[in-house]
Amino acid sequence: MKREEVFNFSAGPSVLPRPALERAAAEMLNYNGSGMSVMEMSHRSSFFQEIFDSTKAKLKAALNVPDTHEILFLQGGASTQFSMIPMNLIGGGTADYAVTGNFANIAMKEAKKYGTVHVAASSEADNFTYIPTQSELTLTPDAKYFYYCANNTIYGTEWGYVPETAAPLVCDMSSDILSRRIDVAKYGIIMAGAQKNMAPAGVTVVIIDKSLAGHELPYTPLMFSYKTMIDKDSMYNTPPCWCIYMLGLTLDWLETQGGVAGMEAIKHEKAAMIYDILDNSALYKPHARVDSRSDMNITFRTGDADLDAQFAKEAQARGLMNLKGHRSVGGIRASLYNAQPMEGVKALADYMKEFEVKHHV
Ligand SMILES: *Cc1c(COP(=O)(O)O)cnc(C)c1O
Repeated sequence: MKREEVFNFSAGPSVLPRPALERAAAEMLNYNGSGMSVMEMSHRSSFFQEIFDSTKAKLKAALNVPDTHEILFLQGGASTQFSMIPMNLIGGGTADYAVTGNFANIAMKEAKKYGTVHVAASSEADNFTYIPTQSELTLTPDAKYFYYCANNTIYGTEWGYVPETAAPLVCDMSSDILSRRIDVAKYGIIMAGAQKNMAPAGVTVVIIDKSLAGHELPYTPLMFSYKTMIDKDSMYNTPPCWCIYMLGLTLDWLETQGGVAGMEAIKHEKAAMIYDILDNSALYKPHARVDSRSDMNITFRTGDADLDAQFAKEAQARGLMNLKGHRSVGGIRASLYNAQPMEGVKALADYMKEFEVKHHV
């Protein structure tokens, strides 16, 4: 198939803005007159330092990151943060975790290795169909931090509010960062793997309140210390150079789309197009509770696993790719990240209506 014939609904790694890819292609063999690709140059070169500094500055501007916070470009994916966070922050105390999905659950279990964990809320008994309300959170006085996952990629639920806690907020924003405005000052740590809404897999963005660094457990590996990475501006060792470069190109594109506010303005409209179909369908059953729905990942099923598989297969034949649900839950999942164009959402909506007419008896 030609790229023009495809809309990619992958949950991650996922679709990137075409202009970013085109620029990367144009600069592939010779970046800015260096005679080298970004993949081939020293991370200590002035060429790369400029890419690094400008990408950081663009992200700082896009998310309005205050000077109290440092932006880090790390490796190891969001999953490595599940360990780094407790190693650096829990320091003999208790951490509160809201367990609203698979990744929050893994993070919670990982934290137990390093300290005391209190589950402040869990929607596991309801198959992670909802986000707890503020009054449903049981908070530990003097907790070291409160951990939550802003958007549950697998289940298709998203926090519609920022929890009010005395403890610093630590948030996994892997799958909705840059899709809505946030007040970074409210957070101790924001972390996100890049491959959902920012860049290729390989760079993990961490935005950390600098006052939280430097309290790591004594056996914390050097590479897992936020302080090491802050002191060395993410370049204690070789950073994921290519991915940082790609993030910069995505951020350039984002600016042409009105930045984060621009994304926020259209993301709900995009998602509503699909949710409207689900709400008026006799065939499709949405997974998430209405008040907890994600604008980024929409999950549903037909109630028949074979029909779900057929849905994804017939979709693929017409260029609507990667609509199969996560292997742990099955069903169907459509990811509508920033780079998913409105035409892609419309094509999916048309297909869903046709499929229902054809298959609903
Ligand atoms: C994908 C994802 C992860 C895991 O990211 P890796 O980079 O593969 O470790 C964690 N949290 C959320 C919310 C995700 O969507």
